[in-house]
Amino acid sequence: MIGSARPVTQAGATRTCPHCRATILESAVICPGCKHHLRFDKDARIAAAAATKTAWQVEGTLDAERMDAASEYAILVVVRNERNEEVARQVVNVGALQGAERRTFTLSIEMSEARPIASLRRR
Ligand SMILES: [Zn+2]
Repeated sequence: MIGSARPVTQAGATRTCPHCRATILESAVICPGCKHHLRFDKDARIAAAAATKTAWQVEGTLDAERMDAASEYAILVVVRNERNEEVARQVVNVGALQGAERRTFTLSIEMSEARPIASLRRR
């Protein structure tokens, strides 16, 4: 296409959420970690309406194994690239369960198309 000179967002560029300090996408309108809105302008509303889809989600439940003793757990998330190289590893929660105690965990991956940075920074 001729004349398409709008600068494109550096896809995957990150920033720190001012509310929860998580590393999030620069293009995020709502922090996926703490759910705080990060931008309120007209372009943000348009951006929020843009297609963000849940590409993948899994939910599981972890029950205590015994009534008479606690079992410890660690929930670990590991991300690998196309060459199977580890690019991220994070322990998101640890604890102990006993008796009727239970933890339910949900892991979801949200994806959206990178948007032109001009529409993000104007005003
Ligand atoms: Zn946040």
